[in-house]
Amino acid sequence: MKILVINAGSSSLKYQLMDPDTNTVFAKGLCERIGIDGRLTHKIPAKDFKQEFDIPMPTHAEAIAAVIDKLTCKECGVVSSMSEIDAVGHRVVHGGEAFASSVRINDDVMKALEDCIPLAPLHNPANITGIKACKGVMGDNVPMVAVFDTAFHQTMPAKAYMYAVPYEYYEKDKVRRYGFHGTSHRYVSARAAELLNKPIEDLKIISCHMGNGSSIAAIKDGKCVDTSMGFTPLVGLPMGTRCGDLDNGVLQYLMNKYGYSIDEMLNILNKKSGVLGVSGVSSDFRDLEEAAEKGNDRAQLALDMFSYWVAKVVGSYAAAMNGVDVIIFTAGVGENAAGTRADIAKYLTYLGTKMDDAENAKRGEHVVSTPDSKVTMMVIPTDEELVIAQDTKAIVSK
Ligand code: ADP
Repeated sequence: MKILVINAGSSSLKYQLMDPDTNTVFAKGLCERIGIDGRLTHKIPAKDFKQEFDIPMPTHAEAIAAVIDKLTCKECGVVSSMSEIDAVGHRVVHGGEAFASSVRINDDVMKALEDCIPLAPLHNPANITGIKACKGVMGDNVPMVAVFDTAFHQTMPAKAYMYAVPYEYYEKDKVRRYGFHGTSHRYVSARAAELLNKPIEDLKIISCHMGNGSSIAAIKDGKCVDTSMGFTPLVGLPMGTRCGDLDNGVLQYLMNKYGYSIDEMLNILNKKSGVLGVSGVSSDFRDLEEAAEKGNDRAQLALDMFSYWVAKVVGSYAAAMNGVDVIIFTAGVGENAAGTRADIAKYLTYLGTKMDDAENAKRGEHVVSTPDSKVTMMVIPTDEELVIAQDTKAIVSK
């Protein structure tokens, strides 16, 4: 089966045509600068092929049309016609409380997605535009599935997802913790159980998704019981440019002092904060490591704050689950930054963790703790596209 996976952002669209059974990626790429001018980067992994095209993309509809054109064209295509694409899986950021799992897209689902726009005003409109553009170009006969970032976290108990504010804001306005990166946490936790050859129901797992955006999830019996992002993806750990947890009083203080509007304040907290804000150097951990090595104290402070926060949240989730069997590191920082993994592990020796330094220096999917470590620590490269393709296949095959 050939599934097209689409991840539509406000001015970009990532795509991947793949077989979910063999995890073969036939082609993948990225449309950028949608609404500005338009550029498409198309790759065919099996042929080591990569080419960039300047293609006018006033809207997502032209972007999808360009993707289909490249997938089917003579020189750089991987299928002979669109009819070879069996289904499309769309990443959707917010499913609210309506969706605890992936779902086939129909008119009712589209309406429910639109109802979720106020919960994710930056992300959901782009996802919906992507779905509509796909329907416009591919027609109604190609089945489509929505896979939600929030769905995996819907198993959290109320004590974990409720905020301590007047209850009416939950009842009337659905103000609560939702959590994000659910597709990644779901994939790496299932993969860890598979690699350890243990039923996921027997494991207490803490999964640390550490990328540009970072979140941690506590997973017991294969179900998420807590996660560090909240109503929005702004909270929890300090991230590349997002502030993470912050006393709300700081907003009032800075807004009054500098006359910021709420939009200006949130722009600072979303785009100018995190390790970028603290270091003044970069949001990229590679740049921070380099600067810290050259003696930049604020870059070192940003790295220290990040590791400290990860360790604090891991400790709190070990408490939430009354134990932990497996700690997973994933995403750009989790998969690549061995130094940050080692720093985090140093805080966790009270749990009986022992890092194997030689293993930690290696790359790829593997165990990084010693055989006698009480907690198994693992690096598992995440694969959200594979989950989207697998869910899409399962749902359209029903
Ligand atoms: P996104 O949240 O955009 O999907 P990724 O999961 O791709 O992000 O993570 C991107 C981040 O991973 C980069 O900003 C960088 O900080 C970090 N990163 C990538 N490679 C390395 C590396 N070799 N060493 C340290 N950090 C890295």
